[in-house]
Amino acid sequence: MTEDVTVVCAWCNERVSGTGPLISHGICVSCAESFIARLPREYLRSIAEPDGTVTLFSGHRLVIPSDDCAK
Ligand SMILES: [Zn+2]
Repeated sequence: MTEDVTVVCAWCNERVSGTGPLISHGICVSCAESFIARLPREYLRSIAEPDGTVTLFSGHRLVIPSDDCAK
């Protein structure tokens, strides 16, 4: 059923996935990266995997920039 849906980025309108007639909104990788970059570092750490990455719904993994070694 997901093949009926084209997911477009709600921020820049770029197609994210799919080619179907129905339109759903998501977020593309570049917008997700700029969005995540603006989130508080502490929040990102709280949702990050143990290896310091955040996995988006699309399966793309973003590495959280770390400017210190908090361990
Ligand atoms: Zn976008």
